[in-house]
Amino acid sequence: MSTQRPMVEVRGARKSFGAVEVLRGIDLSVDRGQIVAIIGPSGSGKSTLLRSINHLESLNSGEVWLDGVQVNQPLHGQAFERHINKVRQQMGMVFQHFNLFPHLTVLENISMGPIILKGMTKSDAHALAHSLLSKVGLADKIDAYPSRLSGGQKQRVAIARALAMQPKVMLFDEATSALDPELVDEVNAVMKQLAAEHMTMLIVTHEMRFAGEVADRVLFMDGGVIVEEGPPGDMFRAPQKERTRTFLKKYL
Ligand code: ADP
Ligand code: MG
Repeated sequence: MSTQRPMVEVRGARKSFGAVEVLRGIDLSVDRGQIVAIIGPSGSGKSTLLRSINHLESLNSGEVWLDGVQVNQPLHGQAFERHINKVRQQMGMVFQHFNLFPHLTVLENISMGPIILKGMTKSDAHALAHSLLSKVGLADKIDAYPSRLSGGQKQRVAIARALAMQPKVMLFDEATSALDPELVDEVNAVMKQLAAEHMTMLIVTHEMRFAGEVADRVLFMDGGVIVEEGPPGDMFRAPQKERTRTFLKKYL
């Protein structure tokens, strides 16, 4: 009801793998329509944070909220399964590797989720897939199989597939890291278009220029904590912390 509450909120998130604490107390609030870029060295916990938001990883302690609903509710068994399946439908995630279904066409890849998970009719789902493919500039690939697409095209299909679920937030985990450099821009352009449409987004990226262009706010993570955050202009021009400066020197 309220438009005031954050779209995504993480409170006191801690996560360990064995003896190693990978998230060491993360607090994060993302407003509706806000675009947050997450940067930081490899191993700093960026992926674990994103994966914890849609509960691909379960936190040891702390809370995750999506639009006023707690994601990691203390439910058990089938009740939790029902809850998390519903919540996950509201979050689109795009990975470094595209994870398209190789045996399905582009049309089937995109329309399957809405048909199976949302009970959309086949014709509605196909119409939606058509319009999303036009949006990502791939209307002519609708009947292609993923193996016939370039990496950039696959990633744009993966984004269209996530959007087909009409998510409240999009999570991008290094969506362009596996792409040949000349294919990066076509994928970034789709993300920029979503930004212009006020999609709420969390974007893990190593591309500082892109982060600067698209993000309202940049978070620098290191060692499982958010070391520093701020608007990209401030973060990139005048980082406050030594650790941030050292990291950024390698990129800027
Ligand atoms: P980033 O995305 O910033 O590179 P990750 O969140 O992937 O960092 O990883 C943070 C740390 O957690 C790394 O040291 C990584 O090896 C470890 N890690 C991540 N996932 C697992 C897992 N499933 N099991 C054990 N260790 C993991
Ligand atoms: Mg990662």
